[in-house]
Parts: sequence; C-alpha cells; structure tokens
Amino acid sequence: MTALPHPSPTIRARGCSETDVLKERGQREVFCGLTGIVWLHRKLQDAFFLVVGSRTCAHLIQSAAGVMIFAEPRFATAIMEERDLAGLADANEELDRIVAQLLERRPDIKLLFLVGSCPSEVIKLDLARAAARLSQAYMPRVRIINYSGSGIETTFTQGEDACLAALAKELPQAEDDDRSLLIAGALSDVVEDQFRVIFHNLGITNVAILPPRRCVALPSVGPATRFLLAQPFLRDTARALEERGAKHVPAPFPFGAEGTTEWLRAAADSYHVDTQRFDTVVAAPRARARKALKPHRLRLSGKRIFFFPDSQLEVPLARFVWQELGMSPIEVGTPYLHRQHLIQELALLPSDIVLSEGQDVDKQLDRCRRGNPDLVVCGLGLANPLEAEGIATKWSIELLFTPIQGYEQAGDLAELFARPLNRRARLEV
Ligand code: SF4
Repeated sequence: MTALPHPSPTIRARGCSETDVLKERGQREVFCGLTGIVWLHRKLQDAFFLVVGSRTCAHLIQSAAGVMIFAEPRFATAIMEERDLAGLADANEELDRIVAQLLERRPDIKLLFLVGSCPSEVIKLDLARAAARLSQAYMPRVRIINYSGSGIETTFTQGEDACLAALAKELPQAEDDDRSLLIAGALSDVVEDQFRVIFHNLGITNVAILPPRRCVALPSVGPATRFLLAQPFLRDTARALEERGAKHVPAPFPFGAEGTTEWLRAAADSYHVDTQRFDTVVAAPRARARKALKPHRLRLSGKRIFFFPDSQLEVPLARFVWQELGMSPIEVGTPYLHRQHLIQELALLPSDIVLSEGQDVDKQLDRCRRGNPDLVVCGLGLANPLEAEGIATKWSIELLFTPIQGYEQAGDLAELFARPLNRRARLEV
C-alpha cells in the first residue's frame, strides 16, 4: 500500500480553521437554484418539478438538462405571461388550472414540487399557500410541496438544499427509540448502492437516504435518527432535520480515499462499530481508491489550483486535491461558508490559502491572474474567457453531474482535475 503525501504536521495541526475569510459582496457569476432540478428529477423517480416562472427559467432548465429526452419528462415550467406579471390575470387560478391538467394527464405523479422563481417572487405569488390549497384538493393521491429556486434567493446548489429542507418537514415521525441513520444529499444510484453495502458490512442496518428514489418510501425521522451529510451545501436541510429531533453526525465529505474513510468512520463511531471491524470492512475499497489515485497524483502533485465560488463543493474538493493529490490551492472561494459543516475539512487545508466567501467577480479575476494557477475551477460563464487567456479550467457544474463520492469514484474524481491539464498538454505538443 502506498502512503499518501500528507501535509506537514505543523500545517495540518492548524489547517485553515482560523484563517480570516475574505468576504465579498459584489457582482457574482453563479447559476440560480433551479439548476438543481436537473439532478433531482433523475433521483426522485415519482416526483415532478413544476417551475412557476418565465421563458428564461424554462430555457435555463432545458439547456442545463441538455439533450435528455424522456417520453414522460419529470419537470416543466408553468410560464407566466405578461398578463400574469402585470397583475391582469389571477395567477392562482392559472396555476390551479395547469396543475389540474398535469395531474389528470400524469397519474404516476405522487409528489409535485411547485418551484418558485424570480418572476413568481417579484409578483409575490404565495406558493406556500398554493401548495397547501392544492395538497388539500388532491389529497391523498398527490402530495404538493413548494420551495424556491429563484436567482434572487438561491445560488446553484441551494436549490437542492431548499428542496430537501421542504421534504424534511414532510417526513413521517419516527418512534422515539427507532434508531436510524439518514444520509442527506442527492447521490447517484450507483454511489448510494455502494454505501449501502459498506454500511451493511459495518452492521449499520437501518439506513435511509434523503431524497429517496421514490417518494412513497419517504424515510421517517425522530430523536433517534442520526444524519450524515453527503453534500456540503445542505444548511437548511440540516436545520430542518434538527427541528425534527435528528442529530447531525459531524464528518468530512466522502471525496477520495481519505474523505470517504473519515465520513464512514464518523457513522461507524456513532454506532460504536468496533475499530477492527471498521478497518477490515474499508481495507479493500480504500486500497482500490488509493491505487486509482496514484497515477493522477503523479501528474497533479505541485500544480496550483484556484477555486471560484460556485457549487459550495469548493472547500471539500480543495481538501481532496491538497491532501490526496498533492495540489496547491491558491484561493478557495465558496458562495457561502457553513463553518459548522466544514470545520473538519478546513482543519485539513493549508493555512496559507485565501479563503473567500461570496464574490466580486472582477477583483477575483484579478487575484486569479496574479496567482497564475495551473488550473481554475469555475462556472461556465468564466471558463471561456479564462481558457482564451491560456488558463486551463474545469467546469464546477460537472462535479455535480458526475458520481464523485465514495471509494470507487475516487479515480474518476481525480481524473476530472487531470483532464483539462492533459488536454492542454496535448494541444501544446
Ligand atoms: Fe433566471 Fe431567476 Fe428564472 Fe433563475 S429563476 S432562470 S435567475 S429568471
């Protein structure tokens, strides 16, 4: 087994948990929370996402979803026309009519999300009230829940947080002594299945996932529920689960061999799993992950990397590239820094990086150019101009759409960072 290049003990002890955060509140270049529908609709197979928005919102989701064509799609936009926006039409009546048509045509829908957008927010359409009214009308056939994906209120991954927080409030109540482990955060099915096998081998049996694949199987939650976050952007979801009595199990995030081990260890410790059993269960997949990382580490070690704030995955990913690939983060930007959920990741980062929250895009571009990184992780809007300046980029959205959590995906995750550099090297040759 090959030892991983760990940061020096002095740096490791301090990490950047106490590093001053550069807070920026200028212009930002981030998608809105509607984007989350693209991966959530694939996960929740009996749910439907009805965006109450404009043609712009419809275009955003269609283009983010790319060429995916379904015989029966699981998202759509109820387009608000000029008459609605000018207050000339009763938007509630229009919405009721569209929902009635949709549910008549699609009896397979068991859960309907009414998703707010900038236009619905601007005209102050009360979607919570509409969801309550419609839920009553269609009970018990369909459950109707609302959340906001508007660009005024949410960035990119906050859409998933808002969706899961809304769902968390609807979960059935568990008995006080009904012990369970809840994994919060949308994971691809393959990753979910791998984790289930490992939890089973650890003897942790009552494991549920939020969101579940089918909403008819919503997990129950109560004081004996322990929850582990699979994604770092779930602040409101965590709060909603805590309000239901569940207890958060603090852990790093399951990226790479080490992140995955520590994430699983946190769950195992909360279930008092014997250390020897834990080591035995994780030994083989951990060794496979380390082996898969090795060639990428040889290629990437020492490369400088700059993260623009986009997905909120930036801090755990920076930890992964630093700890497991030997890359050097220059700046790690994130739209929001939830210190409480990131404390263990921050402790593993070097203390001499710039840690920034929010964005002032021009100033950040200047810092990026001055830093002269080998690789920049950023949103789509910044990637093309930076590439044109000769800087290799990785689209952060790809890190959301690709299965990257867990041992078996460690090599694929590293490959995502290596690919832009390999491509650029080929072009230079
Ligand atoms: Fe644009 Fe707002 Fe619609 Fe998002 S919700 S696509 S930011 S109009």
